Amino acid sequence: MAEVHRRAPDRPERWDVVVIGGGNAALVSAMSAHDQGARVLVLERADRTFRGGNSRHTRNIRCVHRSADDYNTGAYPYDELWKDLCGVGTGPSDEDLAELTVTESESVPDWMSAHGALWQKPLAGTLHLGRTNRFFLGGGKALINGYYRELERRGIPVWYEAKVESLEFDGPRCNSLVVDVGGKRVTVTATAVVCASGGFEANLDWLREYWGDAVSNYHIRGPRFNDGLVLRQLLDNGAAVAGEQRGFHSVAVDARSPKFDGGIATRIDSIPFGVVLNKKGERFYDEGEDIWPKRYAIWGRNLAGQPDQIGYCVWDSKVQGLFLPPMYGVYKADSIAGVLDAMGLPTEPGRTTIERFNAGAPADAAGRFDPGGLDGVATAGVVPAKTNWAQRIDTPPYYGITVRPGITFTYMGVKVNAGGRVVLEDGSTMENVFAAGEIMSGNVLSSGYLAGFGMTIGTVWGRISGREAARHALR
Ligand SMILES: Cc1cc2nc3c(=O)[nH]c(=O)nc-3n(C[C@H](O)[C@H](O)[C@H](O)COP(=O)(O)OP(=O)(O)OC[C@H]3O[C@@H](n4cnc5c(N)ncnc54)[C@H](O)[C@@H]3O)c2cc1C
Repeated sequence: MAEVHRRAPDRPERWDVVVIGGGNAALVSAMSAHDQGARVLVLERADRTFRGGNSRHTRNIRCVHRSADDYNTGAYPYDELWKDLCGVGTGPSDEDLAELTVTESESVPDWMSAHGALWQKPLAGTLHLGRTNRFFLGGGKALINGYYRELERRGIPVWYEAKVESLEFDGPRCNSLVVDVGGKRVTVTATAVVCASGGFEANLDWLREYWGDAVSNYHIRGPRFNDGLVLRQLLDNGAAVAGEQRGFHSVAVDARSPKFDGGIATRIDSIPFGVVLNKKGERFYDEGEDIWPKRYAIWGRNLAGQPDQIGYCVWDSKVQGLFLPPMYGVYKADSIAGVLDAMGLPTEPGRTTIERFNAGAPADAAGRFDPGGLDGVATAGVVPAKTNWAQRIDTPPYYGITVRPGITFTYMGVKVNAGGRVVLEDGSTMENVFAAGEIMSGNVLSSGYLAGFGMTIGTVWGRISGREAARHALR
């Protein structure tokens, strides 16, 4: 067995396939290339403890399946997944590649099981995804650890703290990579390269180009390593763009979250059951628009558009306990003024805004309120309206939490062809450079997001790119 999980050697080595990244798409690419008989090296920028990129924060994956089984509560046929994908944002960007992704998704769970994944039986909970999505036993961290174990079993080396700084090109061919490995700069040569280094959501300067100083108030839900350095290299070397350039997926997170890597635990789910004020003490969006999936994708962007990118969510004891409790606790007081004050918001005009909201909420809301679905309990004469779950906020104690935009990932990546090869601006392809995962997900969806489909894209395209990179190297 080859030596594994080690640091860079002193002398240059040539690999059939070098995979850049250490998350889902990278590990799948590495195993797929190895399945073809290639000699593979994985370069992960994080250290061993923090390996796994955004993928270690995930919980589930969305794939076509024809019937219920131990891990999905019912069938999810091709047509339904396709329709769901078409309903997201502006829909599939490249229909052929999106169709290929959906078709290939059907074989993904079995492939994952054969390569180290374990599954969890569906649970009741806040996500209501047991039919369409399969959950990883122990979450994304356990999935990733299982894949790393499989790499180790196969003897595929992983270099940690290996930051790819540049790709050296001779025309459309990448000849070598310059890599900082634990402070030492080495040149790695490869016959084929798979770029699976995620998006650029952790590159605050890059985000600032589109969003200005507001970025200072964004929280990045995943690791600081996804700064788009490899994406930039590909674009600078002529790769065509896929996906909305400014776009990102974002949710409301606790304003007390760490700047990076808060993961799923800092997401705030109270919004549909209360009201959200901005810094001026005003409501600004229909909190009752939907629970799932819109609340998930809309509120990060909503907050990003408010003064100082902060929101103040307020609810009362009637709904306390209907959603996951915020991990850092909540502000609590016996009056609305008290809870606004505890959150650091001047009492007026926030208190008046909530009084007006209460005046517009229906008197019979209590009998019709249904947290299990859109209940149509709506305000009248209030702008903006709250169109569901519009109960008065009138029963102490009152609760509150401050929220900020939490960026999950960016949408812009590089264009690929059906073999995962990076496409150049003139329509030709790079000779030996492939891409998988978030760095090319813009080929499938240019904006918006379907829960669980990030891992589907990474797995489907990791398999394709790994296989094609190996075939290129071994031809
Ligand atoms: C909190 C959270 C929850 C999520 N939940 C889900 C979910 O349940 N289901 C789902 O489908 N999707 C989910 N997503 C989205 C999902 O995480 C991504 O779609 C998916 O993980 C992308 O995989 P990837 O391998 O392309 O990127 P990543 O997993 O982010 O991996 C990128 C890798 O590249 C490495 N890297 C970056 N730059 C370099 C460099 N220069 N040199 C070497 N290595 C580099 C990083 O260290 C990292 O290992 C979630 C995201 C977040 C943040």
